[in-house]
Amino acid sequence: MQNKKTSTLMIPGPVEVSPAVYEALTAPIASHVSPKILEAHGAALEKMRKVWLASDDSQPFIIGGSGTIAMEMAATNVVEPGDKVVVMNSGYFGDRMALMLERRGVEVHSIFAEEIGAHPSLDALSEALKNKDIKAVFGTHVDTSTGVRLDAEVVAKLAREAGARSVFDGVCATAGEVFRMQEWGADVYFTASQKAIALPPGLALMVVSQDGIEARKRMSSLPPLSLDWMEWLPVMKAYEERRGSYFSTPPTHLISALDISLGHILNRGIENVFDDHQKAADLFRATFEKMGLVLVPKKGLAANTLSAVYYGAHPGIVQALKDRGFIIAGGLHPEIKAQYFRIGHMGYSVGEGNDDMKGLLNALENL
Ligand code: PMP
Repeated sequence: MQNKKTSTLMIPGPVEVSPAVYEALTAPIASHVSPKILEAHGAALEKMRKVWLASDDSQPFIIGGSGTIAMEMAATNVVEPGDKVVVMNSGYFGDRMALMLERRGVEVHSIFAEEIGAHPSLDALSEALKNKDIKAVFGTHVDTSTGVRLDAEVVAKLAREAGARSVFDGVCATAGEVFRMQEWGADVYFTASQKAIALPPGLALMVVSQDGIEARKRMSSLPPLSLDWMEWLPVMKAYEERRGSYFSTPPTHLISALDISLGHILNRGIENVFDDHQKAADLFRATFEKMGLVLVPKKGLAANTLSAVYYGAHPGIVQALKDRGFIIAGGLHPEIKAQYFRIGHMGYSVGEGNDDMKGLLNALENL
């Protein structure tokens, strides 16, 4: 039986989950190699390729962990000590990516957004890629600290033309923002379960192109064992063939729930899901404009999955909404942390037949 909900969670992850997901999370415990779990695991891997719009030969991974674990996998499997990379940095999570790569012994050239809320320069990326030693370009598709969306299509294209791999942190974007992994030629797109995929936290999810897998295979300095794609690869292949296999015990409940949530996304149609997020973001932006509030992202750069908004005339908005039953978040970017708030509008909360978003918009309009 579900515990009774007392408020609606509209932060930029974790977000609300569907009743069917709740049900899967409370199913009786099952062996990770039981037919039921093997089916869910295999089907979830297959569905990931479709949600990611990835090629048939791409490799999905479902790993117990958080978005940070997915970041660490990308930082350790695509490049090795001494390699050179570019990080397109639009905020807090770009800083984290750069730090991880530096700890891996990688030489990082960061291209920073010129001001908070801006897009890191694509001309500067083209310039940096004239150096043919650049092995990979890393970018945050949506930086959750600023609400800025990176032009991942152009970044992936520039990287590919330069013979470099492209890696995107989609933790606050995947299944909410348009991303066409195959068409754009991206190599790694990773996320975590608690955002637009609409599950509780606990899964690191990524799809890797064959070129990405080849980059790992060529490496002489191996990643830590538990993060190594080559350890996980045979297990993922076995699960996709519905065969039992073991490297590390998978979080079975979350995997059953993942299969259900990805199924909802595909039943709605991934293009419709993208549109739902666009419409949700437009509604929030129109409301903020009516309230005289200003977004952190510069014009045309705001993400569809969350809004980062300066407090303006509403410094008490987080508490005021809490009093009305909606949990939103404060700021995250260290330089402007006290000046803005964030609202997550992604996943189940913006889907059909769900009143969470309408309720929050109504509460905002009546503040
Ligand atoms: N990248 C981005 C863009 C994120 O929003 C987050 C989490 N807010 C992370 C990485 C890290 O994910 P986790 O908290 O699940 O480790």
